[in-house]
Amino acid sequence: MGTKRHHDKWFKPTETYEVKGCFAMTELGHGSNVRGTETITRYDASTGEFIINTPCESAQKYWIGGEANHATHTVVFSQLEINGVNQGVHAFIAQIRDENGNICPNIRIADCGHKIGLNGVDNGRIWFDNLRIPRENLLNSVADVSPDGQYLSAIKDPDQRFAAFLAPLTSGRVTIAASAMNTTKVGLAIAISYSLSRRAFSITPNEPEVLLLDYPSHQRRLLPLLAKTFASNYLKMIYVKRTPESIKTVHVVSSALKAVLTWHCMRTLQECREACGGQGLKTENHVGHLKSEYDVQLTFEGDNKMQLGLGGWPSRVLCVDPFILGQTYQIAEDLGRAFSDRLVLQTYLDVEATIPTGPLKCALGLMRSMYTTIVLDEDASFLRYGYLSTDNAAVVRKEVLKLCSELRPHALSLVSSFGILDAFLAPIAFNWVDANAWSSV
Ligand SMILES: Cc1cc2nc3c(=O)[nH]c(=O)nc-3n(C[C@H](O)[C@H](O)[C@H](O)COP(=O)(O)OP(=O)(O)OC[C@H]3O[C@@H](n4cnc5c(N)ncnc54)[C@H](O)[C@@H]3O)c2cc1C
Repeated sequence: MGTKRHHDKWFKPTETYEVKGCFAMTELGHGSNVRGTETITRYDASTGEFIINTPCESAQKYWIGGEANHATHTVVFSQLEINGVNQGVHAFIAQIRDENGNICPNIRIADCGHKIGLNGVDNGRIWFDNLRIPRENLLNSVADVSPDGQYLSAIKDPDQRFAAFLAPLTSGRVTIAASAMNTTKVGLAIAISYSLSRRAFSITPNEPEVLLLDYPSHQRRLLPLLAKTFASNYLKMIYVKRTPESIKTVHVVSSALKAVLTWHCMRTLQECREACGGQGLKTENHVGHLKSEYDVQLTFEGDNKMQLGLGGWPSRVLCVDPFILGQTYQIAEDLGRAFSDRLVLQTYLDVEATIPTGPLKCALGLMRSMYTTIVLDEDASFLRYGYLSTDNAAVVRKEVLKLCSELRPHALSLVSSFGILDAFLAPIAFNWVDANAWSSV
């Protein structure tokens, strides 16, 4: 968002933690609707300063990560008013604490309070009371203000300018999507390891009880999620391999992926939690706890529903008849999902093509079959839009069960291939009887 003048001044002290940054976009009254931001910034040409103000309670910055206790500086999103004309939302750097951690004059800060998870992050609120900052603190990669107060931007269309402002947020969404995959892997590694040592019920009297993962229902609940996780693992490569030509596409794609992968993460953690029975509820077994830590992924950096279906709809679309709007939204969401599923498959196929013939390629092929089949089984759009008949759907369902039994012998190797260190797993992933023995009380 900034340019060389910001990079030269801020990068180094940020890396050495002299500057502890936070990101203040959301307000009490406006989260998804960033353009509705009420914080207002005006320019004073006589001093060469911007003046940032919180005009009302709903304009207080809210949920700002790292800000309640520690941050010294913030990137604050605000309406920019120049010579009485509102130029839309812009971002500025503002200092909120001094080097000793004291809150700066013209700044008020409060904690957001205890949350259902992620309490290691101090989310806070900020009020700006006509805070003055230097003109150079405007992050000016898209627009600038000259010393004498002229608004300058090569992008004249406000919609396009706003899109350009938000484009750098792509990396945040990609990071969340990638981190969701890591968390998903931890949940699956724990639940599948447990299901390979936990037994329940004997089929015949005096025979050993059956391993959980030998039950078709247990395979059905975990193995398709495992395949989806494998298939989605390579999506981050779209970002890693981005080019100047592809960056616009990556920006759009990152919204859908953030939504699809974080939903997958939460769904998988819930299933893993239940698949571990009562042990899933113990904090030391991580799975349940990870759910509350990562639930927020569905909301921050853009609520998932907005990211997948509604994001970026111009206001004129939102003004049409509610019934038509409802139908259009559902189609948009279906298309968003279809697009993401297709992208997952394509990136996976690209990786698979690079693997030489052998056992690894066979295992990856099996996972791909499971991924495509489970998407067909779970997404009613295929029936709704006539791509599958009910007979086809019945065949697909049978195929899922068949693939589950084919994947079952590979389950442990597949989760081991995630390479998760033992320290990140849980007692139930190992010898849970020893871990719970009287001697360890
Ligand atoms: C723990 C945590 C950390 C955060 N960290 C930061 C941070 O560091 N910096 C920062 O700036 N923000 C941060 N946020 C804020 C986060 O980005 C916002 O909460 C998020 O963008 C959603 O905004 P909102 O809470 O105002 O919800 P709203 O925008 O009010 O949305 C509420 C619900 O309404 C739905 N909705 C909204 N508009 C529409 C519509 N047009 N049609 C249909 N449905 C709609 C949404 O899908 C959502 O389900 C954080 C939030 C949390 C919880």
